[in-house]
Amino acid sequence: MHEKGLLIVLSGPSGVGKGTVRKAIFAHPDTAFEYSISMTTRAPREGEVDGVDYFFKSRNEFEELIEQGKLLEYAEFVGNYYGTPVDYVRETLDNGRDVFLEIEVQGARQVREKFPEGLFIFLAPPSLSELKNRITTRGTESEEIINNRMTVAKEEIEMMSLYDYVVENDQVDNAVDKIKAIVIAEHCRRTRIEQRYKKMLEVE
Ligand code: 5GP
Repeated sequence: MHEKGLLIVLSGPSGVGKGTVRKAIFAHPDTAFEYSISMTTRAPREGEVDGVDYFFKSRNEFEELIEQGKLLEYAEFVGNYYGTPVDYVRETLDNGRDVFLEIEVQGARQVREKFPEGLFIFLAPPSLSELKNRITTRGTESEEIINNRMTVAKEEIEMMSLYDYVVENDQVDNAVDKIKAIVIAEHCRRTRIEQRYKKMLEVE
């Protein structure tokens, strides 16, 4: 029997660059964990492919998935639903593979309740003013939207206490290296592996 995989959750405030860091992690050919593709009701952006970037669903389809208990977590974010398919996550973990979720903070909170043994990594902006710059330089957004986002971001930063590790996203490559190092260390955590050694002794 193999050990169960590790559930890795990367989350953090809106605009901090979670998607960019996640894409950089999976661009490495040596990445050994599986990305859980989320469901969403938002429209595909240019170049996005159904079943690769997301599973794109209608609101009705998504609400049916909620009712059927098919989602490990879900949240409404800027008017759209986003959620993690539970069957994929459980099956992949049972097969001994690590699963990687890149989700917003409301969803991460739900996963923490269901999978307290997961590895929760908070991606933090180098500073709040840097976050404001990033949101502002995306263009298009009004002052009101930017201010609302800042309020939300402040609340989200307070949510850091829910996480096991905090990685500052100063540079994407640094953040990727730190996340990979955290995963390696987590696999060596005594509480995760001592059962295996105890079983070994029982056999003899
Ligand atoms: P975007 O629309 O830019 O792809 O994603 C918007 C936000 O939704 C990002 O913060 C992303 O991390 C989050 N997100 C993506 N998939 C999921 C999911 O399955 N569950 C939750 N709770 N958030 C998600």
